[in-house]
Amino acid sequence: MDNCLFCKIIKGDIPSSKVYEDDYCYAFRDIAPQAPVHVLVVPKKHIENIGALTEEDVEIVGKIQIAIGKIAKQEGILESGFRVISNCGKDAAQTVFHLHYHVLGGKEMAEKMV
Ligand code: 5GP
Ligand code: ZN
Repeated sequence: MDNCLFCKIIKGDIPSSKVYEDDYCYAFRDIAPQAPVHVLVVPKKHIENIGALTEEDVEIVGKIQIAIGKIAKQEGILESGFRVISNCGKDAAQTVFHLHYHVLGGKEMAEKMV
């Protein structure tokens, strides 16, 4: 998608600190980290958010879940634990409308919403 920040990052038009890449997804460090490890995992296909997923995307979603585990291992937070968040829409304060999963770890997270 032409005017999408994360599509531009995936294409390399905007620089990013790459952590992981496969056929389905691209992962890079958040520009404003909220934890010692804060990685954004995005599908290469432009999808607005979880609410826009269709049956067609089953493979992408599955592969991303597996990629998140690999990234956690690579970042050294698989054993200590980590949190995965995907903000979806206005009330969740989603700011970039290309599906992404925040992977947060490297510290004990006291604030627990659920
Ligand atoms: P959201 O608020 O939509 O769930 O998450 C968007 C995330 O993208 C935020 O955590 C923000 O810090 C991050 N972000 C916004 N612009 C950039 C950028 O240009 N590069 C990187 N690496 N992260 C960005
Ligand atoms: Zn996009």
